[in-house]
Amino acid sequence: MADLVIIGASYAGTQLALAARANGFQGSITMIGDEPHAPYQRPPLSKGFLSDAVDASSLPLQSPERFREERITLRTGVSARRIDRQARTVSLSDGAQLRYDHLALTTGARCRRLPCEGAELRHVYYLRDLADACDIKARAREASKAVVVGGGFIGLEVAASLRTLGLDVTVVELQERLLQRAVPALISTFLQAAHQQQGVRFRLETRIRRLLGDEVVTGVELETGEIIAADMVIAGLGVVPNVELAEDCGLAVDNGIVVDRFARTSDPAIVAAGDCASYPNPWMPAQAHEAGAGDAGRCVRIESIQSANDLARVAGATIADRPAPYEAVPWFWSDQYGYKLQMAGFSAGHDEAVMRGDMAAGRFTSVYLKHGIVVGADSVNRPQDHMAARRLIAARVRPDPDALADESVALKTLIPA
Ligand code: FAD
Ligand code: NDP
Repeated sequence: MADLVIIGASYAGTQLALAARANGFQGSITMIGDEPHAPYQRPPLSKGFLSDAVDASSLPLQSPERFREERITLRTGVSARRIDRQARTVSLSDGAQLRYDHLALTTGARCRRLPCEGAELRHVYYLRDLADACDIKARAREASKAVVVGGGFIGLEVAASLRTLGLDVTVVELQERLLQRAVPALISTFLQAAHQQQGVRFRLETRIRRLLGDEVVTGVELETGEIIAADMVIAGLGVVPNVELAEDCGLAVDNGIVVDRFARTSDPAIVAAGDCASYPNPWMPAQAHEAGAGDAGRCVRIESIQSANDLARVAGATIADRPAPYEAVPWFWSDQYGYKLQMAGFSAGHDEAVMRGDMAAGRFTSVYLKHGIVVGADSVNRPQDHMAARRLIAARVRPDPDALADESVALKTLIPA
């Protein structure tokens, strides 16, 4: 019987193993994870876990019983060091060697590091895993002033959680607005105002020149010369995909391990999914100048749980010899204070935006159209709009803009039967 080895024990790895079983894969499944824990949820690490609303007991992704029932062997605290594609083996850090018929790479991503002087000082943090979150949480109990570097998802969610814990928080961001690559300007403006109302300060369009302190960080100096005192610094500067194992064994890598719509790498025995993989997403419009980007959509590496889970489902089906291409509409979410921001589709390149609801009241949906077709939607505290928007995008609906803007018309009524 065939053996499946999965490198990386988190969202993509777990979903891939379950999907292979659900599609009838009968061979052995071994999942290797270098963290000491069984797979767990990361989103609470910057939200409820950090702000003390939930504890570690609620984090596991699946129960040990489920892994047993599905005959998935989990080897934690050990990392994969080398892949030999000719011999079809994986060498592990504990000296073991595993043979595979199918190999899955779900190695995720790691935090980009601060590129400046002082980055090695104590009480400078990054947030990717449970250990990082525990360190930040412990320090937040003693600290009173935090500087958050980076106004992306990590930066804003950490800022909200630390404010909830009572710390004084300043966010420093390189770009002229928050979440510049993820959302249109009106959402950035809304979020900035929400944070300012809670007392968060912002320094936009500037970078950190150096971190100050002797052993322990005491502040940051900005490019502008301004000095901001801090007894902890948290950097959320984006992530780098973990592609080295793939590169070293000669797989195609281009801002992520390159896979097709069936999650297959350049070696048919190896699939990849999650934050480490770059794949053709049918909802990402191809750019005219891109060679090879046809109807299958443009290749993207998406860093989200939806993308990890859905591409892993595709990879699991491929391994079980029931291939079905990736089709899912992308969606994302972020919780900050009492606001649930939910994003559907890709809004980049839209030529029309229609507002439903009241931004000032913090309950609205901005729907994005291109050539009259719904391509994306950002909702704040309107979960029903978000669910309907995902279906509108999937159905490539061309709605009447007046009906779209009319709050008395439920979005779901615009979905064709
Ligand atoms: P990862 O979760 O990064 O897991 C990869 C695993 O593989 C890691 O455990 C890694 O240590 C391990 N690994 C790597 N190399 C090896 C090796 N050689 N041997 C063994 N093991 C290895 N996304 C959302 O959609 N919504 C959210 O609200 C959200 N919140 C987030 C909050 C935080 C604090 C963080 C850090 C991320 C958040 N994300 C969120 C992003 C989301 O967690 C990632 O997109 C998701 O975890 C990707 O899953 P993955 O399985 O591809 O990779
Ligand atoms: P993001 O890419 O979302 O944001 C990083 C931000 O920091 C960017 O705006 C970046 O600008 C900026 N930046 C980079 N370098 C500097 C610098 N030297 N000084 C100041 N600003 C800088 O990544 P995050 O770190 O916020 O998140 C890490 C990962 O976790 C991502 O995969 C993210 O999707 C995921 N995550 C998702 C969440 C969600 O979906 N709710 C929540 C938390 C994390 P530039 O764009 O120019 O590089």
